[in-house]
Amino acid sequence: MLLAALAAGCVEPPATSSTDRGGSLATLATFTTLSEGFEAGSKPSYGAASVALASGSWRLDDALIGTTSSDVKSGARAARVRNAGKVTMEFDRGDGAGTVSVRHAVYGSDSAATWALFRSADEGASWSQVGSAVTTTSHTAATATFTIADPAPVRFEIRKLDGGADRLNIDDVAITDFDDGGGGGGGGGSGAEVSRHTALGLPAPATPTDAAAYLLVKPGFVVSYNGARKNPNWVAWELNSSYRGSVQRQSDFRVDPALPGSVPQATNADFEQSGYDRGHNCPSADRNRTTVANSETFLLTNITPQTAANNRGPWERLESYSRSLLSGGRQLFLATGGVYGASPPEIGDGVAVPEATWKVVVVLDDTAAGAGEVGDATRVIAVIMPNTDGDIPDGADWRDYRVSVDDIEAATGYDLLADVDPGVQALIEANVDDN
Ligand code: MN
Ligand code: MN
Repeated sequence: MLLAALAAGCVEPPATSSTDRGGSLATLATFTTLSEGFEAGSKPSYGAASVALASGSWRLDDALIGTTSSDVKSGARAARVRNAGKVTMEFDRGDGAGTVSVRHAVYGSDSAATWALFRSADEGASWSQVGSAVTTTSHTAATATFTIADPAPVRFEIRKLDGGADRLNIDDVAITDFDDGGGGGGGGGSGAEVSRHTALGLPAPATPTDAAAYLLVKPGFVVSYNGARKNPNWVAWELNSSYRGSVQRQSDFRVDPALPGSVPQATNADFEQSGYDRGHNCPSADRNRTTVANSETFLLTNITPQTAANNRGPWERLESYSRSLLSGGRQLFLATGGVYGASPPEIGDGVAVPEATWKVVVVLDDTAAGAGEVGDATRVIAVIMPNTDGDIPDGADWRDYRVSVDDIEAATGYDLLADVDPGVQALIEANVDDN
């Protein structure tokens, strides 16, 4: 099923730390069992050599363990890589891996460096790149996370690809368990393996190789991007008060560098003079804790052409209403997308316009909640809003567009809330919210 299709992929860091083995995250059955911080070893020069570290033996080639004030590190040490250097595990992780996350930053006052994660299933005899290359531009550490989702024995290598002299710090290589045993709670599904944002399930399969359903796992949300429509198929995210703050709306709409060239994507030029808004799937105001998180929502992979009457009308009102539910430690899971006709109208260079936009909001009581906490009495708000001129009157209430989740599933062919217990799904997906 889905997990097999998710065999490899570059994803960006998950919003929820996976370094805490306790409490809530245990319900997600995804936690760190290997984390290498390069604290236990010493390697002061760049020449290729093995070094014994806390997790096992690693080989550092054109790489050393840096301890200076110019090394960007957590703790006292980080790996520092130059030229075409490599940092390589010399042991397998026998149980496979769920995700691999890597802290990375540019060393000292050096310039940008490009690197990638590689995996080997044959004890290092051959390697294949996982997902897309990462270009590190910041002197402050960022975390890149890659989806593996494979129970087979595996080892990893971080490889600097640009060959240039600019140095790169690598730290806290963390590998989570892979659990395909249905630990996510109700449905035994895979959403929680991909991201906290998809803890209730992926609305439809997406992989890091499918140009019509390209999986992008970001810190703030998860996207399935459709290169044929140049639109997201769906976007999913969690929302609780931890994502909320007061930073300015960044408005830096831009193409998404995480999409490979083989997946066509919309550009700002496509929207100019189109008459359509660049409508957010995951709203800007759902991610205003930090400027980085807010800016991420302006990636065009999170954007769908929306009529002003829709985007600035009941669509925005439901976004605001959803945020009003967050007090008292509530937890929302949201998913959105478009309903497309057989030959949808297009703007710009082939950007499809959906005839309607849909959204599902699942309201839970506890920020730690996941699929297992969704029950017969869980409030689920589902809407389908027209995205054609003249079909939404001024001042329209979002409540006027409520439908059942079953209605959205019928319109899209997706299976929403797929990781929720099937009996619960049957009940709550047939309801229309009337609160
Ligand atoms: Mn909007
Ligand atoms: Mn469903």
